[in-house]
Amino acid sequence: MLEIKNLTKKYGKKEALVNANIIFNKGIYGLLGPNGAGKSTMMNIIADILKPTSGGVLYDGQNIKQLKSRYRLKIGYLPQKVGYYGDFTAKQTLEYFAVLRGVEKNQMKERIDRMLAMVNLSENVNDKVRTFSGGMKQRLGIAVTMISEPEILIFDEPTVGLDPKERLNFRKLLKQISKERTVILSTHIVSDLNDIADYVLILKEGCVVENKKMDSESLEGLYLQYFGNDTEDICSE
Ligand code: ADP
Ligand code: MG
Repeated sequence: MLEIKNLTKKYGKKEALVNANIIFNKGIYGLLGPNGAGKSTMMNIIADILKPTSGGVLYDGQNIKQLKSRYRLKIGYLPQKVGYYGDFTAKQTLEYFAVLRGVEKNQMKERIDRMLAMVNLSENVNDKVRTFSGGMKQRLGIAVTMISEPEILIFDEPTVGLDPKERLNFRKLLKQISKERTVILSTHIVSDLNDIADYVLILKEGCVVENKKMDSESLEGLYLQYFGNDTEDICSE
């Protein structure tokens, strides 16, 4: 189980994340908020590549500061912006990350084949990444993120750059892979979460203003409570 506790991040005087407390169980958590709300900040801290100003991240009750690589191997993180070597093929890219993430040599081929099939890039296995469209690169990123089949998956705005069909496929894929895993997915597009998120978290100016199970209530309506025309600018604690 993953937990963030009293998490605050300041960049100088700017508070990007304000005393956030969330418990993540299995399932898909949709982290929703407009640009600048603090989504990437929270995800970078959970992925252990950014240090909080105060508070911490606990995995099974232990602070990840103490767990170090033992924690890192349990997470797969797709950052908002990723760069790959254009000269690498899809296969070489996956091999590279598989080695980094400790995938056993004898599992390598089966794993890479399965990941490529999952993101529908089997036919492009020997194509150089340089020749890929934005959507193909994004799908490769998803395969890279999952190569070690980590228990916790963090996707920062993964649908940016995907066309409508790719968006739909991505949601189907997420649904498949989220079983028995914790998936945290950020977006500023409400409809990205419809039908797939089990829980919704709304971030506003660094504050977690909503943390609830998804139900039949319209997510648009909920979102507008915080970001409609006649709402307060400052979030309350
Ligand atoms: P989101 O991912 O929801 O768009 P971010 O976490 O990227 O939000 O940013 C939250 C706030 O923190 C924004 O106001 C942003 O300008 C600010 N911020 C993010 N990164 C930095 C940084 N490295 N230095 C200064 N301010 C930052
Ligand atoms: Mg962001």
